[in-house]
Amino acid sequence: MKKFKRVLVANRGEIAIRIFRACSELGIRTVAIYSDEDKNSLFRTKADESYLIGKNKGPVEAYLNIEEIIKIALKKGVDAIHPGYGFLSENTEFARRCEEAGIEFIGPNHHMMDQLGDKIKSKLVANRVGVPTIPGIEKPVTSEKEAFEFAKYCGYPVILKAAAGGGGRGMRIVRDEKDLLQGFYSAKNEAKKAFGIDAIFIEKYLEKPKHIEVQILGDKYGNIVHLYERDCSIQRRHQKVIEFTPALSITEEQRQKICDDALKIAKAVDYRSAGTVEFLVDIYGNHYFIEMNPRIQVEHTVTEMVTGVDIVQSQILIAQGYHLDSEEIGIRSQEDIVIRGYSIQCRVTTEDPLNNFAPDTGKIDIYRTGSGFGVRLDGGSGFTGSIISPYYDSLLVKVTSLSRSFEDATRKVNRAIREIKIRGVKTNIPFLVNVLTHEEFKLGTCHTGFISDNPELFE
Ligand code: ADP
Repeated sequence: MKKFKRVLVANRGEIAIRIFRACSELGIRTVAIYSDEDKNSLFRTKADESYLIGKNKGPVEAYLNIEEIIKIALKKGVDAIHPGYGFLSENTEFARRCEEAGIEFIGPNHHMMDQLGDKIKSKLVANRVGVPTIPGIEKPVTSEKEAFEFAKYCGYPVILKAAAGGGGRGMRIVRDEKDLLQGFYSAKNEAKKAFGIDAIFIEKYLEKPKHIEVQILGDKYGNIVHLYERDCSIQRRHQKVIEFTPALSITEEQRQKICDDALKIAKAVDYRSAGTVEFLVDIYGNHYFIEMNPRIQVEHTVTEMVTGVDIVQSQILIAQGYHLDSEEIGIRSQEDIVIRGYSIQCRVTTEDPLNNFAPDTGKIDIYRTGSGFGVRLDGGSGFTGSIISPYYDSLLVKVTSLSRSFEDATRKVNRAIREIKIRGVKTNIPFLVNVLTHEEFKLGTCHTGFISDNPELFE
């Protein structure tokens, strides 16, 4: 057992603050790193110490500089690094370098990451343990001919996806043979631009699926549990906007099957730390594995609300060598995970829904948040006087509700976001309210095309 004294967070914004909070409650000193562009950002001030990195290297590059981050960590006597999400969180090289430097990487080890970070490799893991995957070619598609042959064999529509993809980028849906060539090259180009690797693969495109994902937690001794599912079907351009748990569109039997399949995949790689196994569920109720994310996710909050398990603290305790059934983590068996109530999270962003969700920037003149019984806020960069820069993602605050029914949780999160008053930059709040008050949303059974099918939500 290695007790951490100091933890460095190689990230910024809301997730950095979330991790600092978890560390502080565990009596661990927190270390922030920040770019030049973030010198006035809120997260910096929430850590016990903070250090400038990547001077003149660029706002994003600063957080990707493995060399410098490890150098600072060693110099400041840091025991462990938490990568958050995005940036270096799924970078096998970074996990390996931390291990080599004797710094604990708070996440899975680089072997597990290597098997799961790539969507093609993780589909092979799923196939190996008998978990259904979407029909496709489980290797990079290298020629147009291969793509044409597959599409002809399985029928249109098909989807071309970046193997290293994330954040909905590097994907092209092709509905007709005449568009395949263009889809093939534009997916490849976008993959290269966004992830530095142009490997793409092809699979059948499912119409109107639900996105259901399962939260996993595993310790270093082979004990693995799931914390049930989240429904993340409310998406805009394949990016999640609102997430909730428990899912309403699956039966109890389907829920059990999906959670069991998620465990099969996690166990196949002896997974440790927090991770998420993602599935799509088609209109007939069949579920298919799509990918595993070996890191904390933006929407982990809803699972924490209904299970009472602090996922980030669990990650930190697991990295120190605690067993799941230790007093500190307190999960003696799968039966200890009990769902109480319904939780919904809205991602409030500085995007203008009336201008095609273009990110808005500038000074926030007024920042007043909502709050109240059953409402949780995970804020990042917003306060009166703060500057929203164009360099990073536009997530301002995550608003999460907990209540005894889906209907109540919806009303609560709706009330909380309407209480928020922000002047100076535009936000997506009016759009979120339109979604939450839509009759279809209220049923809790929307599919991933709900937003694009309902243009009135943008008004
Ligand atoms: P990313 O890693 O970029 O988030 P994912 O593979 O997790 O990409 O997929 C993101 C979303 O894209 C899914 O939730 C779903 O809405 C859509 N999607 C991905 N693959 C398919 C598919 N084969 N059929 C239909 N929709 C898909």
